[in-house]
Amino acid sequence: MSPLANPLADLLARRIAANGPITVADYMAEALGHPVHGYYRSRDPLGAAGDFTTAPEISQMFGELIGLWAAVIWQQMGSPDPVRLVELGPGRGTLMADFLRAARMVPGFKQAIRLHLVETSQPLRDRQKQALEAFGVPVAWHDDVASVPDGPMILVANEFFDALPIRQLQRLPDGWHERLVDLDEAGTGFRFVVSPGRSSGAALLDPGVRDNAPAGAIAEICPAGFAIAAAIGARLKQQGGAALLIDYGTARSAPGDSFQALKAHKFHDPLADPGAADLTAHVDFQALARAAVEAGAVAHGPVGQGAFLTALGIVARAETLRQSGARDVDTALRRLIDDQEMGSLFKLLALTGPTLAGSLPGPLPGFEG
Ligand code: SAH
Repeated sequence: MSPLANPLADLLARRIAANGPITVADYMAEALGHPVHGYYRSRDPLGAAGDFTTAPEISQMFGELIGLWAAVIWQQMGSPDPVRLVELGPGRGTLMADFLRAARMVPGFKQAIRLHLVETSQPLRDRQKQALEAFGVPVAWHDDVASVPDGPMILVANEFFDALPIRQLQRLPDGWHERLVDLDEAGTGFRFVVSPGRSSGAALLDPGVRDNAPAGAIAEICPAGFAIAAAIGARLKQQGGAALLIDYGTARSAPGDSFQALKAHKFHDPLADPGAADLTAHVDFQALARAAVEAGAVAHGPVGQGAFLTALGIVARAETLRQSGARDVDTALRRLIDDQEMGSLFKLLALTGPTLAGSLPGPLPGFEG
C-alpha cells in the first residue's frame, strides 16, 4: 500500500485492511483521542494560531456571566459548602478563570468551591493549571466525570459534547444501516461506505427521526454523549445541583450529516489527515436532554446563546468594559450574541436535580424566553 497522509492515517489504514471498515465513531475517537497522534492529545488547538476560537476566548464577558449564573444557582441550592464545581473540557482554562473572578463577588461562593476539571489532554491540563493556580481554589483533574467525588455539584461544559464521537446511520429501503469509513480504491485515502446489514444503532435514534426520515437520509447518534448526559442526570437526581451544557447544535433531533473538520479556521475534509484537524458534529440537545431526564434530572431549555447572555446582562457589562477602556468590546459582543454569529446556532441546555427544580421561584436565570 502507498504511504498515507500521516502516521495515524497509516495505522487506521492497516486496521481497516486487516479487519474491515470502521464506524465513524471509531474513526473520530482515534483521530481526536489516539494516545500519541490524537488531535487533542498533542496540541493546543485554540486561538488565532490554532484551528478554532471558542466563546470564552472571544471575551471575558462569557465566563464572567456564567460565573454569576452559577453563583445564583449555588444560592438557590442553599449555598452548600463544599460544592463540586466541575468543568468538562476546560481548554485553556479561560472560562474558569473569568468565572472565578466574577464568583468572588458573591460572599462565600469561592471559599466553597472544590474545582474538578475533566480533561484528557496533557498540554491543556498544563495550560489550565497556569491559568487557575492564582485563584487559590483546590483543583483536581479527572479523565472522566465518574471519578468526581460525591456531593452537590455545579457543572459547566462549553464545546465539549461536539468533540465526542458520533455514529452515522443511513436510511435505506429496508431500514437503517451503519455508515462506515473504508479505504478508497487506490488504498491511499479513506471514503465512506454503508454496511450491508441493518444497524442495531437504530434503537438509539430519536423515534421521530427513525420512523419519519426520508430514504437516503443520514442521522447521527452520540452514544458517549448520551452516556455522559445520563451520568450527569443520575448524579443531579441523587446529590443535587445543576449543569450548563453549551454547544452548537439543534434544539430538536433531526436527520442530517454534520460531521465536519476545521483546520486553521477553515472547513476541511474530515477523512483527510486524521489527527491533524479538529473533528466535530452538531450536538442534538433533545437527545442529551432525554438521556438526562430518563436518569432523573429536569431539563431547562435549550435557549440560544444570544438570548441567554442578553438576559444575564451582557449589554450592560459590555458598556462598563468599554467605559473602562477595553478594546474590541463591540466586535466581541456581536460575535457572541448576533443571530448571524454565535447567537442562535450556539445553545444552552441546563439540567437540575428534581429538588432544586421544585424549589425554584421561576425559570432558571437566562431561561425565561
Ligand atoms: N471549553 C473550552 C475548550 C473546548 S475544546 C473552550 O470553550 O474554549 C474541547 C475540550 O474538550 C478540550 O479541552 C479537549 O482537550 C477536551 N476533550 C475532548 N474530548 C475529551 C474527552 N473525551 N474527555 C475529556 N476531555 C476531552
